[in-house]
Amino acid sequence: MTMKAVRFTVPGAPPVVEEVAIPEPGPGQVLVRIGGAGVCHSDLHVLDHGAMHFQGPFTLGHENAGWVARLGAGVTGLKEGDPVAVFGFWGCGHCHACLQSMEAYCENWESLPNNGGGIGTDGGMAEYMLVPSPRLLIPLGSLAPREAAPLTDAALTPYHAIKRGLHLLTPDATAVVIGVGGLGHMAVQLLRVLCGARIVAVDVDDRKLEHARQLGADLVVNSRNAPEAIETITGFTGRRKAALVLDFVGIQPTLDLAVHLVGRNSQLTVVGVGGGTIPLTQWTLPFGCSVCTPLWGSRAELMEVIALAQSGRIHVDASYFSIEQGPQVLQDLREGKVVGRGVLVPDLV
Ligand code: NAD
Ligand code: ZN
Ligand code: ZN
Repeated sequence: MTMKAVRFTVPGAPPVVEEVAIPEPGPGQVLVRIGGAGVCHSDLHVLDHGAMHFQGPFTLGHENAGWVARLGAGVTGLKEGDPVAVFGFWGCGHCHACLQSMEAYCENWESLPNNGGGIGTDGGMAEYMLVPSPRLLIPLGSLAPREAAPLTDAALTPYHAIKRGLHLLTPDATAVVIGVGGLGHMAVQLLRVLCGARIVAVDVDDRKLEHARQLGADLVVNSRNAPEAIETITGFTGRRKAALVLDFVGIQPTLDLAVHLVGRNSQLTVVGVGGGTIPLTQWTLPFGCSVCTPLWGSRAELMEVIALAQSGRIHVDASYFSIEQGPQVLQDLREGKVVGRGVLVPDLV
């Protein structure tokens, strides 16, 4: 039996749709029937540069949810048909970080055969996906898998990033979100739910900014003209500047902007994998400003994000496409045409 899958081959090559074998779950493994696979900007980084030292070809898609299809020998606690989210970074399962449900910070990641589906081995842009352990499956309850898939990354990653700076986000503080695409449009909603701070959304695309305004941003600023953007935002924050700046782009212009926007005793959080750098000296950043580069989030946090979505406090603005449309959606994302999240749905009718 075969299925269609969107595949990465070698760095620099375009993604291809191919027929691949439907895998069999071995002992301890679970086969998941995919309900939705989110298309993340990190897929473009994989296509362009590869997934660290892991070789292709493999099926893309690290933002997945679906239904339990088959249980490997010895798996208990799940049954066929259960709707589940797939936790994306698999980890070794037994180091200190993994035991804390923080597989993204696994101490043994370099010696693992892969870092997860879509990042070193077959992911979810296909009809089925093999998951190595039931530990990585989070029950979805009433949420539809296609709506829930982006929660595993587009919502979990900003949730984890915001929580690390939450102590700074008092009601009189300001948070700045740079890049309000897949992750950023969730960050705006999560900030609304998690704190009383004022929210500034920054992007170079007015459609994304209008979207952010609808989702609860207090101020939206187009940063194509950086000096003007800095003046507008610092006019809004006053001399205190921002308590938390979240950069979901990470290229040199956005990091330069972020450095101008953070205040003293603040946090500058770089989530975007854009290759920019921040000069770190006593004088290049405000005193007391910490910089962090969080990776994804924990399984416990994914459960919290799912609870927020189940109760309607956050939602993914998704557009749905077939597996065959995968390469086109990736190209649209590259060209900045996707508002919210594009999600591939194998049985889209
Ligand atoms: P996306 O393409 O959906 O959104 C990016 C947004 O940034 C778009 O709205 C775009 O208009 C905007 N943008 C582009 N250039 C800009 C500029 N110069 N100034 C301001 N805004 C600009 O991407 P996404 O899926 O949300 O991913 C965002 C980044 O986060 C990517 O680099 C991705 O690889 C990374 N990522 C990191 C983690 C992590 O754990 N650290 C997890 C997931 C994604
Ligand atoms: Zn991602
Ligand atoms: Zn580990």
